[in-house]
Amino acid sequence: RAKELGRNICQLHTPAMNTEAEERLVLENHLRRALEREEFLVYYQPKIDLISGHIVGMEALLRWNHSIWGMISPAKFIPIAEDTGLIGSIGEWVLRTACADTKRWQDLGLPPLRVAVNLSAHQVHQPNLVETVEDILEKTGLHPQYLELELTESILMQNTENVIDTLHRLREMDIAIAIDDFGIGYSSLSYLQRFPISTLKIDQSFVSSIVRTGDRIDGVIAKVVLALAHNLGLESVAEGVETPDQQAFLQEAGCDFAQGFLYSRPIPAQDFEYLLLKNESASV
Ligand code: C2E
Ligand code: MG
Ligand code: MG
Ligand code: MG
Repeated sequence: RAKELGRNICQLHTPAMNTEAEERLVLENHLRRALEREEFLVYYQPKIDLISGHIVGMEALLRWNHSIWGMISPAKFIPIAEDTGLIGSIGEWVLRTACADTKRWQDLGLPPLRVAVNLSAHQVHQPNLVETVEDILEKTGLHPQYLELELTESILMQNTENVIDTLHRLREMDIAIAIDDFGIGYSSLSYLQRFPISTLKIDQSFVSSIVRTGDRIDGVIAKVVLALAHNLGLESVAEGVETPDQQAFLQEAGCDFAQGFLYSRPIPAQDFEYLLLKNESASV
């Protein structure tokens, strides 16, 4: 009784969110209504071809703009969306929005870009993923060759046979598959050959460890991952590129594409469109 009273008093006199568990519960309740309240946005970060310097694609990154709390980081709400299964409908919304935006930009007559969309474990293990993707491509009119799906290594390691089957069906449709945050030592590298993968995205931590010492630039692990991608015949993307030194090192090491603050932060769709149009008029 006293304990209950104590808790009530506590609730009266402190902000609503006083423990991590409570904060999570409150976020979860708001997350349930965020889709219908249209609080989600897709931001885009350009992907640069390291040979031509042109924008060849972009990564779609989910943002939650809450009416009172403002922007909430995906690092904070995506784990909750995953645990509650809400990521299913949210992820489908991201996919549909990203495909529709990409098609719209193609229809402006701009050089066609490929959009990369992050998938969560929940989505990859859903038996109807392929049908959902097919339906979205059909309704938006985007050709499958302009879609890339990003998965993390841990997703590949669960329920492996089904994942291999799903990925084969997506690859047969001409959709690209990337492994996000690729590192060394998560698991045996031999598994890479078992999955129909098209792209390795080098983990940001390896890119940020590319540093200049005197007149040398060191980035041993990034180089090893790039050599691996090259030997397996996969495309390579470096994420989190922030300095010209890192770019120079990656170019030298034969990395295909780069993303990072050096080029642009993730930006709203409207700003991304403006960037494309500005680039286009500059190159004419
Ligand atoms: P990710 O897919 O590995 O995305 C890269 C993250 O690095 C993004 O963080 C991006 O803003 C950030 N980044 C890009 N360039 C730089 C740079 O030069 N320096 C630094 N320090 N950071 C950079 P963001 O947008 O906060 O997203 C975090 C993670 O949330 C993503 O990591 C991804 O795992 C997840 N996520 C984002 N959108 C979605 C989505 O639609 N669905 C799912 N399932 N997960 C998503
Ligand atoms: Mg990603
Ligand atoms: Mg990543
Ligand atoms: Mg990451």
